Amino acid sequence: MKIFAVGRNYVAHIEELNNERPDEPVIFSKPETAIIKDGKPFYYPAISNDVHFEVEIVLKICKNGKNIDARFASRYYDEIGLGIDFTARDVQTKLKTKGLPWDLAKGFDGSAPVSAFYPKEHFGDLNALDFSLIQNGEVKQQGNTSLMLFSFDNIVSFVSKYFTLKKGDLLFTGTPKGVGPVTIGDKLEGFITDKKLLDVEIK
Ligand code: MG
Repeated sequence: MKIFAVGRNYVAHIEELNNERPDEPVIFSKPETAIIKDGKPFYYPAISNDVHFEVEIVLKICKNGKNIDARFASRYYDEIGLGIDFTARDVQTKLKTKGLPWDLAKGFDGSAPVSAFYPKEHFGDLNALDFSLIQNGEVKQQGNTSLMLFSFDNIVSFVSKYFTLKKGDLLFTGTPKGVGPVTIGDKLEGFITDKKLLDVEIK
């Protein structure tokens, strides 16, 4: 399976990192070894001293597709969940300065905790979905999918022009503002509306 992610999809987050607003989706991928699931902990990696959480809605692809028209894209994902796009910000900043790819900062082991996935019908209007991240009991990120630059359907369509999407692939759809560092001992909780989907302990 493949894991795709969208960078810079929420304006307020683009501003907090002083990034440029993109005119098409900024796509990167993570390897399968980045996945953490079933409530397993995240082990702070030796390659970074500044790992940040980025809470994101994740789409699960339900059938194979290539060159998917945005009008039909919703047929290609039937479940959504919540994930954290852990980012080694210090590594990423160094790579960005040199204009190099982000893989080392985004794809390291454990950099993609994901919740269980649920039928998208359970969540109401996917284009106006609240989600949030709580760190040690304190709300750090609050997003709403209405604030995305590129909608779920547009992202699926765009990615499928380059990569054949296959059943089971995951797509991280971008983080709202409020990203920040984690430290060992932290407890992260992720919510879609008032439903808790994700628990990640930092070890
Ligand atoms: Mg992200």
